[in-house]
Amino acid sequence: MNSQEIVDLNNQYLCSTYARFPVAFVRGEGCRLWDAEGKSYLDFFASLAVMNLGQCHPAVVKAVQEQVATLTHISNLHYIIPQARLAELLCTHSFADKVFFCNSGAEANEASIKLARKYGVDKREGRYEILSTLGSFHGRTMATIAATGQEKVRQGFGPVLEGFRYVPFGDLAAMEEALSDKTVAILVEPIQGEGGVVVPPDGYLRGLRELCDRNGLLLIFDEVQVGIGRTGKLFAHEHAGVTPDIMPLAKALGGGVPIGAMLTTAEVAESLSLGTHGSTFGGNAIACAAGIAVVETLLNEGVLDNCAEMGAYFLSRLQALKEKFSFITDVRGKGLILGAELDREGGKIADTCLTEGVMINCAAGKVLRFIPPLIITKDEIDEGLDILEKVLAQQ
Ligand SMILES: *Cc1c(COP(=O)(O)O)cnc(C)c1O
Repeated sequence: MNSQEIVDLNNQYLCSTYARFPVAFVRGEGCRLWDAEGKSYLDFFASLAVMNLGQCHPAVVKAVQEQVATLTHISNLHYIIPQARLAELLCTHSFADKVFFCNSGAEANEASIKLARKYGVDKREGRYEILSTLGSFHGRTMATIAATGQEKVRQGFGPVLEGFRYVPFGDLAAMEEALSDKTVAILVEPIQGEGGVVVPPDGYLRGLRELCDRNGLLLIFDEVQVGIGRTGKLFAHEHAGVTPDIMPLAKALGGGVPIGAMLTTAEVAESLSLGTHGSTFGGNAIACAAGIAVVETLLNEGVLDNCAEMGAYFLSRLQALKEKFSFITDVRGKGLILGAELDREGGKIADTCLTEGVMINCAAGKVLRFIPPLIITKDEIDEGLDILEKVLAQQ
């Protein structure tokens, strides 16, 4: 099939929920993708911060192939090795003692929200309210659109689940002011991803931790986008030197195989007791085998260091572009989640870049977002940013 035939077939049979670029990919390797016509593209998007090890990483391919040929799926009424091993790996390398597996970021947030409410009932006299931040993104299910601090995701889906309020991101005083005697948890992304790579001021996450400690609240860090090495550490909150009580994960955890996870402490996990939550596919054997390969590769193959080093280089090149083009008003980010904010819409620039052979993304209308695989090389960064520079020069 050629690209046009693939696009037409999709448009005929799929719900039109996505604004798609008219490109159909058929193959990938590392930071490189090929479309149906054989044209190659450099990937600065990693399929939305999912392919942190790039396409078809040998460790992930091997783990998935071996698992699918050995034991494909077992229900959660019985035990399997990969689920326990991945949970052990995640706990060993984080604040957490316990893991609940699901299949997506929204589900990991759902589990976090359910746990916070149950904890409120069990240990906080029935408190239920969760404070989240304006511009946040936590998913597309009914509870997670209620948690998301963007009105547009709720439009047309009322009545919206109660018990959420939104506070400006990065503003500690506003968060403190917003607390009520019903508040049980604070939910934030350590860096807002969909909101346009918004990095909070230094001390914000630590301040939230202290606020939660003083008031007996749960702190939930949504690391669905910025976790799994994206910022140069396994989890983004490690930069701040504080830990949450609950952490939803997904996106990059399965190396492209769908998986979500909610991590928490032993004390908080007591509330997610027998029969209170579940998922048919949660902790599926193939997904967990892939997850083990991803986390071990990140930790043992120098990928985190590469992310930090290449991130610093990428950011320095974006800073040079900002000097050159006055319509770039800010560049920011950490590791390999970087943004260049423009004084204008950025969608057309991203479109043109794709036509010219480099895939970038535009978030929140005006922010060019760069989230390449963490295995990217300096040569690949130069190649992609040279294309971007040419596109920017035509603005
Ligand atoms: C993508 C994302 C989600 C939702 O994940 P899905 O797998 O699409 O349900 C939740 N939170 C954050 C921070 C995300 O970036």
